[in-house]
Amino acid sequence: MELKPRIGIEVHTQLKTKTKVFCSCPVTFGEEPNTHICPVCMGYPGVLPVLNKKAVELTLRIALALNCEIDMHSRFARKNYFYPDLPKGYQITQYMRPIGRNGYIDIGGKRIRINRVHLEEETAKMIHRGDKTLLDFNRAGVPLVEIVSEPDIESGEEAVLYLKMLQAILRFTGASDADMEKGMMRCEPNISVGVGDELGTKTEIKNLNSFRAVQRGIDYEIKRQTGIIKNGGKVEQVTLLWDEARKETRIMRKKETAADYRYFPEPDLPPLVLTREYIEGIKKTQPELPYGKKRRYVEDMGLREYEAGIISMDMVMAQYFERASELWDKHQEIAKWIVSELIRYKNYDKLNPENFIQLLKLVDEGKVSRIAAKDVLPEMIESGKSAMEIVKEKNLLQVSDESSLKDMVLEVFNENPKEFERLKNGEDKLIGFFVGQVMKKTKGRADPKVVNRIIRENVKQNNP
Ligand SMILES: [Zn+2]
Repeated sequence: MELKPRIGIEVHTQLKTKTKVFCSCPVTFGEEPNTHICPVCMGYPGVLPVLNKKAVELTLRIALALNCEIDMHSRFARKNYFYPDLPKGYQITQYMRPIGRNGYIDIGGKRIRINRVHLEEETAKMIHRGDKTLLDFNRAGVPLVEIVSEPDIESGEEAVLYLKMLQAILRFTGASDADMEKGMMRCEPNISVGVGDELGTKTEIKNLNSFRAVQRGIDYEIKRQTGIIKNGGKVEQVTLLWDEARKETRIMRKKETAADYRYFPEPDLPPLVLTREYIEGIKKTQPELPYGKKRRYVEDMGLREYEAGIISMDMVMAQYFERASELWDKHQEIAKWIVSELIRYKNYDKLNPENFIQLLKLVDEGKVSRIAAKDVLPEMIESGKSAMEIVKEKNLLQVSDESSLKDMVLEVFNENPKEFERLKNGEDKLIGFFVGQVMKKTKGRADPKVVNRIIRENVKQNNP
């Protein structure tokens, strides 16, 4: 019995527009509750929604970035249900005619198909306090895009790869900040474990607000369903809540079916008709996306896949790398420094790329050791001083003068007679110890390779 997990993910992402999707209230975050509201987003009877053009543009940017077919004639629908965060009793969304369909994202050589991309309105935010629930309508009516994947994902790890790529695309297109902690990007995976090619019964997990929770939640659910099937049981179609503290899922409710929502066309909004010219205009102004950047970094700039993959996924890092690369043509070296050193500092992008390159050149020319350069980096970021200034202040210019290095080697031989004796008797691993001693003496200002060679040359010839 071969069991195969299949995971599809529904992602909701808030668009970065100035105003809400059907009224002119500003889109805000973290402000005093219920201060950016009006009769439209409060759902008063008799009000008329007016579609936000920017929201359509950003939805289109997402759909195009996800390689979707664009519906030139999409429609809004009412999804009817009552919930405290939706007092008008329905949500305006797209149902039969979403803007985008049949797209895909490639992750690590695998294609994840996208079923649909559509625009809808955000509900109010519910805040639970003890036995009371408070409502904040600042969030009601914020434009929301739903992105639904096909069940092509097979593990928690793959789900995270997919979501990270999606998050990067949302950010690069300027459509959303896609900050999961702030609820700007929320994901609900549905998981089924099928026997062979047969599909299993789906369950859905809610309340996953970090990549780690997504991975754990999915893997937990695969294991749970696999256990049930192996024991001859039947998986029930339910909605689950992820409990991060207990690291397990628990049943929230039995799943509603689409029919429960009684969708019908929104009578207050005309069909959304897009023209070819409009779509072409968006395509022409579409920014370079993570996958395009990665290809360019590897093929045109000679980066390794590893560094290209990391840098191309992060907008700030990609910008920084590209600015620095204009200043020096050793692109792989720049990329390596960014990925292994620079990103350890939160505000690294404050560091002027010219200073950064100056430091890398000093290392490249052998004037400053790699170790010393790594120490200089945080100070450069904090103080804004140039690499040369700090290097001079701290007297970090490399000791490249061989005779003074040799003196130091003899000194450390003298200071550590027992270790020297063992080294002389062939215990080669002690070379590392002596290199370390010399590096300490020079405060990292020596090239360890040169020190290593001088030690080897002198151990046979000299007795301390
Ligand atoms: Zn409003």
